[in-house]
Amino acid sequence: LSIRDAVPAACAQIQDFPKPGILFYDVTTLFANPQVFRRCIDELTERFAGTFDIVAGVEARGFLLASAIAYSAGTGVMTVRKAGKLPRDTYTKEYELEYGSAAIEIHRDDIPAGTRVLIVDDLLATGGTLAAAVNLMDQAQLKVAGVGVLLELEGLGGREAIGPHLVESLSIVS
Ligand code: IMP
Repeated sequence: LSIRDAVPAACAQIQDFPKPGILFYDVTTLFANPQVFRRCIDELTERFAGTFDIVAGVEARGFLLASAIAYSAGTGVMTVRKAGKLPRDTYTKEYELEYGSAAIEIHRDDIPAGTRVLIVDDLLATGGTLAAAVNLMDQAQLKVAGVGVLLELEGLGGREAIGPHLVESLSIVS
């Protein structure tokens, strides 16, 4: 299978979760699959090879990808956390969810300005989450090398929300 076909095939697909009409892609089965997990890590690492100094993962599934990519590329890793978890001064960005809003944060002084950051998460839908992560990097004067995801849901405007940055998704589904 091509990676494009292997990624959705390795996900459990749950109809009507978390609400009627939504097809939810559950990546826990992909993470548990040693062959597909390794392929995804290798592929994302390769696509951005030489372009980043650190990998940022979005809580929580993004952490798993970020850690493996960073280890593979020999870089450090940073955590983009849900609000209220980080003990020191933070940059914060609120963003809209389908119902209500959420906020994510990074520490202010962890990473020197100008560091090139690869941001990763499991899935790109409307792009609200990853656009907020990009905004945090901007606040911290970090340079966004690009955004990498396993799966992109087509037609929800995710890419456009992330603006001019390079977005690499291993698979695109509608
Ligand atoms: P966005 O902010 O609308 O792009 O939604 C992306 C965020 O919601 C990511 O952090 C995903 O983990 C989560 N998400 C949205 N839809 C799905 C899905 O079908 N499967 C798994 N996660 C999802």
